[in-house]
Amino acid sequence: MLKLEHILADLREYHPRADVDLIKAAYLFAFEKHGGQKRASGEPYIIHPLNVAQIVTSLKLDEEAVAAALLHDVVEDTDVTQADVTERFGARVAVLVDGVTKLSKMSFSSHEERQAENFRKMMMAMSKDIRVILVKLADRLHNMQTLDYKARQPGGLESAQRIARETMEIYAPLANRLGIHAIKSQLEDLSFQYLQPEEWNTLSKQLARLKREHQRFIDLVNGILGNELKAAGYKAEIHGRMKHLYSIWRKMQAQHIPVEEIYDLVAFRVLVEQVNECWHILGIVHQLWKPIPGRFRDYIDLPKPNGYRSLHTSVIGPNGEPMEVQIRTREMHEQAERGIAAHWRYKDSGPVARPDEERIKMLKDLLEGIRELHKDIDSSREFLSSVKEDLFGDEIFVFTPKGDVFVFPRGATPVDFAYAIHSEVGYHCTGAKVNGTMVPLSYPLHSGDIVQILTSPSQSPGSDWLKFVRTSRAKSKIRAVLRTERRGRSLEIGRALLEKELRRRGLSYGRLQKKGEIARAATELRAESEEDLLVRLGSSKVSLDALTAVLVPGEAPSPSPAQEQETRPTGITGLLNRILPDVATGRVLVGGEGDIMTHFARCCSPLPGDDIVGYVNRARGITVHRRDCRQVEGVEPDRLVDVAWDRRVKGERVVRLRVLCQDQQGMLAAMTQTLTNQSANIVSANCRGDKENGAVNVFEILVTSAGHLKTVMRALERIPGVRSVQRS
Ligand code: MN
Repeated sequence: MLKLEHILADLREYHPRADVDLIKAAYLFAFEKHGGQKRASGEPYIIHPLNVAQIVTSLKLDEEAVAAALLHDVVEDTDVTQADVTERFGARVAVLVDGVTKLSKMSFSSHEERQAENFRKMMMAMSKDIRVILVKLADRLHNMQTLDYKARQPGGLESAQRIARETMEIYAPLANRLGIHAIKSQLEDLSFQYLQPEEWNTLSKQLARLKREHQRFIDLVNGILGNELKAAGYKAEIHGRMKHLYSIWRKMQAQHIPVEEIYDLVAFRVLVEQVNECWHILGIVHQLWKPIPGRFRDYIDLPKPNGYRSLHTSVIGPNGEPMEVQIRTREMHEQAERGIAAHWRYKDSGPVARPDEERIKMLKDLLEGIRELHKDIDSSREFLSSVKEDLFGDEIFVFTPKGDVFVFPRGATPVDFAYAIHSEVGYHCTGAKVNGTMVPLSYPLHSGDIVQILTSPSQSPGSDWLKFVRTSRAKSKIRAVLRTERRGRSLEIGRALLEKELRRRGLSYGRLQKKGEIARAATELRAESEEDLLVRLGSSKVSLDALTAVLVPGEAPSPSPAQEQETRPTGITGLLNRILPDVATGRVLVGGEGDIMTHFARCCSPLPGDDIVGYVNRARGITVHRRDCRQVEGVEPDRLVDVAWDRRVKGERVVRLRVLCQDQQGMLAAMTQTLTNQSANIVSANCRGDKENGAVNVFEILVTSAGHLKTVMRALERIPGVRSVQRS
């Protein structure tokens, strides 16, 4: 009977400095708690956790995993709570026990929609600590090894088959994907036994009959190859074995042939120390026996997705018997048997791997693996993407082209990614490629995406970025930049406003400043400094009237032109106001969004591309008119400022067109069709028929620029029956 000593001996062999006391304590606790419980076999329950622990040591996991294996059923099957486990054995062991307990409670339905949910839960459990799934696989393996007892109970066969199906559909593919060949093949054979008992029975009898014959063959090959390698000076281990039952069965099914016709039932494995020896030995094998064309595989240079590395070849062996030969180093072999568990390596000083780095590396492997796994189970896109989405709940894992991993909250975008790399990369990012395809900066990233950021020195963050970034790092960096920029713009406009106003009154800003007047006004208006005062003026927190009242006491505010009409930007245009100082020309730039005091005059509705001028209004800042607008013709030149379109301006603005045409049927339809063709959305249309003058039509349309408007007007003019088109 398996005893704790065996497990401890196994453990010490690969991990001499393991914390044996932890394992002993876990064993005693489990022993006591499972007390009088019995398994279906009638044996004391503790036999099960002990066997699971032994499988865990066969994977060479650490003492925490071994302890968790011993404790894995105490929360599920006894009165022990999660808190008890944490208190006695620490949080790390408790997380493992919790994960295994949760997985045990899950029933894996084969309905596809529920599988996605199952996988999500499984991934959640695993993502906390990958050892959860390894302990769970060990648990499942021992349950499968002892399933016979369950199957023999009344009504037990059905539940045994359910467990076997789940093992075949979920756990065996998972073990395969994690590269744990040793567990995968056992799970497959055991499941097969319960799922197709008759086929299993027949095949295992056939193989048993062939076995003696095969053993002679194995001995023969071992002898020949062993001598040859020794003569060539290699110290290699040779193992011959029959392939596992289920893989033979699969071959028979795939090729529709009986077992006698499967020509490579026997496979040989040659283990060496050095990688280059693999190639030398391949040469020796091919000299001894004729290789079968098309059967050579180089998994050393091109490893399988689960990390498997080896050389495979098939040759015509002694007596004309075909056979497969696998050649690999001991390290590759270790990897092939233990797969992801091979990440746990030990030196005298303890475990080699740093858990965090390893975790990320393994998650990456896993993610790839799950994708693969789903290819087998269901190739439907929706299913796949829902699993991918849900893999890690609220977290996503994305990669740089070099394979570095970043963890983000779900919904994170390339901008979050760029800021995570470096704030300079974030600052200048212009676009991104996800899995090689260009995407918008607001694109929500998905787990497993490979993201490449494109940058440009002239790029800087826009306030729209704040609407889609998810990480607080990106948010605060963008806000800081915008604050600085906005302050700069406000300062510029505040100063322009004040200078104009003072000049109009025959005063000089420079002189007032020298006299300390500006500083005095700043104190009086509770600004922190002169600069702050101008910023406040520019961002309309202090009005020009209030400031001039302090600077030039006693003078009445000057009136603004009576007929001036202006408009606050509307939702339709989507164009809020912004003023940017244009460093090159000293002109005020008008455009996009912002909090600065510019407005577009309703009288002339300037469009990006129009020649424009700004009118300084004491209460409202700057009103932007077209330069040819009649409203600005008569005003004092002092009240005008040079303004220019910010090239970054995008969006649509409303303009009004007055179209005169013949009053005939179909005219209106022709005009609206033309507007639509020119991508000018119609906001309103007002048409009046008039026998003498024809028809008068007033359209309000949305256009993006003066150039756009010109094209639209020309297109209207070309319509037969249209007499004139005017912007009004
Ligand atoms: Mn168990």
